[in-house]
Amino acid sequence: MKIMIDPGHGGHDPGAVGNGLQEKTLNLTIARHIRDILVAEYQGVEVRMTRDSDVFIGLSQRAALANSWGANYFMSIHINAGGGTGFESYIYNTRPASSVRAQDLIHPQIVQAMGVTDRGKKSANFAVLRETNMPAILTENLFIDRAADATRLANATFLRTIARGHVNGLERAFNLRKGSGGGGNVYRVIVDGTQVGAYGDHQNILNEIRRNVGTARNILVQRT
Ligand SMILES: [Zn+2]
Repeated sequence: MKIMIDPGHGGHDPGAVGNGLQEKTLNLTIARHIRDILVAEYQGVEVRMTRDSDVFIGLSQRAALANSWGANYFMSIHINAGGGTGFESYIYNTRPASSVRAQDLIHPQIVQAMGVTDRGKKSANFAVLRETNMPAILTENLFIDRAADATRLANATFLRTIARGHVNGLERAFNLRKGSGGGGNVYRVIVDGTQVGAYGDHQNILNEIRRNVGTARNILVQRT
């Protein structure tokens, strides 16, 4: 199971801003938590992120990264703005059956974990949903310009709770199995200076090394 996590915005594009917070930073923190929980606690899951630092990546490039990797699921993380409160999620507006099914299972888990207003399961013509070849979801996690929501988003523990809700949903949607060959440790695989993955399962680490060993100048496996 290959899951691409997409932290929205980045670099010169901060996304929504409000109450001293920037969306791009919150998105990245939540996405990293999702990745770290998945690789630490589940078997047979490979996770990549479209970005793992504060860099700008275009929408088409995000989709292309997922398509070229052959991801089985694409999950884009965002924070809302514009007046409102609570959580909503989006799938592409043609409502592909596989995306509907995953949204039906993932959305309520996030609402339940966060304990916030459910704004509903929605669909939209967003580029990352349109251009990805696999089922995809985009989540909007509270409103950065609403003081009460921003207070929660400023809390580090709550960002982990948001991530946990996403992971609970992924577990149900894709029957992910608990357990790790990594003894609970998470290892980054860094190829020629670029992190290509982070894994808790030893087999996934070996698979990543095999994929790169013919072409890489150096491969580093580093415990996080
Ligand atoms: Zn956004």
